[in-house]
Amino acid sequence: MIARGRRRSFQHRVLDWYAAHGRDLPWRRTRDPYAILVSEVLSHQTQITRVVPVYERLLGRYPTVTALARAPLAEVKAITDPLGYKIRGQWLHTAALRVADRPGGAFPNTLDELRSLPGIGRYTAGAVMSFAHHQDAPVLDTNVARLLRRYFGLAATPRARTAELWSLAAAVIPKGKGYLINQALMDLGAMICRARAPRCHACPLRRSCDFRRNA
Ligand code: SF4
Repeated sequence: MIARGRRRSFQHRVLDWYAAHGRDLPWRRTRDPYAILVSEVLSHQTQITRVVPVYERLLGRYPTVTALARAPLAEVKAITDPLGYKIRGQWLHTAALRVADRPGGAFPNTLDELRSLPGIGRYTAGAVMSFAHHQDAPVLDTNVARLLRRYFGLAATPRARTAELWSLAAAVIPKGKGYLINQALMDLGAMICRARAPRCHACPLRRSCDFRRNA
């Protein structure tokens, strides 16, 4: 449980920082769940600078989930494989086929439906709900998990703490602002609260961060 004052301070500082420093990424200019799903699958364990051109190429070639479903798998993989982690091309293609098979080709719009797609876990499903449907769903990638763990002073035992971190990721969402704070936390974790050499001097949370206080 986070004290209300601490939670509000955290939210304000993170959102103010994001307004000034958030990254301009192509998938932040759309609410198309298909495009969001593509961006999240491509971003998995991959540097954003490498993801952007592949995302643009894939969406340029297959602008809809139906177009992706109709594409030969080999052509999809020819675009996605250079990023490494080659299974993701297959995941995207199979997911597109599953969506195309749904009544009317309607894109899944619940966490459970999204998680039934191949390669789509809690994180990616939450990202689609948050970034495409603007639901207050928590989004916990490795960067957000590290930031929350450090700020709230949780021991670095990821497996044991996963449930607690998901609860924290949900608890810090201001009502109706899941989209904004999730994007903000992802950027703050990636750009400032880095795994090695966190840039605490540039962090808006430095005055109340447990990790910083105990360093
Ligand atoms: S003060 Fe440092 S450790 Fe704490 S959240 Fe910011 S960057 Fe991370």
